[in-house]
Amino acid sequence: MDFALIGGTGMDHLSLDRKKDITVDTPYGAVSLQTGEISGVEMVFLRRHGSGHTVPPHRINYRGNIWALKKLGVRKILATGAVGSIYPDYRIGDIVLVDQFLDFTKNRPQTFFDGGERGVLHVDVSEPYCPDLRKTILFGAQSIGVEVKTAGVYVCTEGPRFETPAEIKMYSILGGHLVGMTGVPEVVLARELGICYAAVALVTNEAAGISKQPLTHAEVTATMNMLGITAAKLINSTCRHLTKEQYCYCLTGGTEAGLF
Ligand SMILES: [Zn+2]
Repeated sequence: MDFALIGGTGMDHLSLDRKKDITVDTPYGAVSLQTGEISGVEMVFLRRHGSGHTVPPHRINYRGNIWALKKLGVRKILATGAVGSIYPDYRIGDIVLVDQFLDFTKNRPQTFFDGGERGVLHVDVSEPYCPDLRKTILFGAQSIGVEVKTAGVYVCTEGPRFETPAEIKMYSILGGHLVGMTGVPEVVLARELGICYAAVALVTNEAAGISKQPLTHAEVTATMNMLGITAAKLINSTCRHLTKEQYCYCLTGGTEAGLF
């Protein structure tokens, strides 16, 4: 299994063929996954919030999830997640290939390397999201005429509560564009194990003060539904362009660690 999709909120429109449930044992507990095909390409599918959306962002087993994918041989991870916009250029319905993050999480294990036998690793995240995989997604988008924004600073909060207006103002002043609760440490852990990782952020809401006029509930539901359908098309198209080779810097983390 070379490729994986980690699906967040709003991925109900994606269909996985030849679906099979599997469980992978990791040092962090057993992880439930599905294998199958998307656009004829073998994929591992991981529902970040569990089946039935029962796991909140701060309780997700990020280390177990990434370890399980590595154990299955995964080299590239496509991740999706719903985000709120805190910057006027990003509107509801936008799809963004984020390129940087600001980490405001508080209580999550951030690394596989806690010292001891496994040692210490200061992984490089100057380009946290794989530049090659981001290009593949962009190509996947262009080939079906889907518009995506190619940069954005993702702010990861601990949750599960939403942000205060004061926090939103602070994130905005610090250079954040989008806010979510699940992107970190997922992206960092993938880098530590030498897996390419790119995130597709789906803008499903706007923070207070960003939207000029409030949307009706019907408008929000319709937009979310359309965004889900478009995101599924984008993933389908991207899968057709995935290649096994890793020519990027991402591989270095795993090689240095020598864990697998
Ligand atoms: Zn890479």
